[in-house]
Amino acid sequence: MSEAPALNGFTAAAKIIHWLEIGQHLSLPINLDTVRELLPETPFGQSETIKPPQPITWSSSEGALVRNPDNEKEWGIFYNAKVGPERQRFTIAHELGHFILHRKSQPTFNCSKESIYSGSDGLIKLEREADDFASNLLMPGNLLRQKIEGQEVDFRLLGKLAKEFGVSLEAMCIRFIKYTDLRAALVYWDHGFMKYQWRSQSSIRTKVRLRQSSEPQEPPRNSLAADDDITQELDGLEMSADVWCPSEPSDIRLREMKHTYREANRVLSLLILESAAPRPFVQSGWEDEKQHDSFDRFVDSAKTLGENHGRS
Ligand SMILES: [Zn+2]
Repeated sequence: MSEAPALNGFTAAAKIIHWLEIGQHLSLPINLDTVRELLPETPFGQSETIKPPQPITWSSSEGALVRNPDNEKEWGIFYNAKVGPERQRFTIAHELGHFILHRKSQPTFNCSKESIYSGSDGLIKLEREADDFASNLLMPGNLLRQKIEGQEVDFRLLGKLAKEFGVSLEAMCIRFIKYTDLRAALVYWDHGFMKYQWRSQSSIRTKVRLRQSSEPQEPPRNSLAADDDITQELDGLEMSADVWCPSEPSDIRLREMKHTYREANRVLSLLILESAAPRPFVQSGWEDEKQHDSFDRFVDSAKTLGENHGRS
């Protein structure tokens, strides 16, 4: 008898996808009401129920999960109604993640988008686990792989998939970065400065590093991100990789995609680098920046789960 895999955002989402499949409820976009109603019947819910999600009117939070003070077997989910429907769905899935993974530890979860980057270590861990859950539930790896396989990845494809899966372009891009074998990076710019970056495992392994020109960091010269006249470049524009990554050999090419949000001043850049043989680590004084470790958990969990949910 093999031991059950440890419960985390990935394994919990994989289990639910499996239950949806058995019950013939697995279709896109994932129906979160079905998931919510299913939970009390499962080992994850243990007869505790969750009332239909309600819009938040009393706080600026992104979302919340709250135990009913008069009935400890009943929970409520709240979401910020001022954001787009995709973000609302992600928030609701995130709160379902807290319900499954964390409700024994506290009766209230008050979630903001920032706490995943700037909360205490303990808080960041819970927030990341809930985000992992949401990401894996809304964008199941097996379905995503089927749809991406053999296609050139650009913002057009990721945008189409985001619609199909009912998530934001940003959520789909982050999922792609964690999942892809390509050398890729995603950068989010807020008012002209880098807010965060994600690199794929392959990028980390081959020491892909983005040019650092200033602190706070601005887009590199000659990149689309730095060109205010270009707001959208969904297919991507080819350039020498060293525009973005000075340590890349000059013959390596890179495709840069750019998406500017309707509320201007926010830009998403996706970079896909030509593959290159891994180079030995050169002592340069650079440290690997701290990276969200969910990809490792994703891979480890996939190994543990075996062929049903594995990432081959
Ligand atoms: Zn949260």
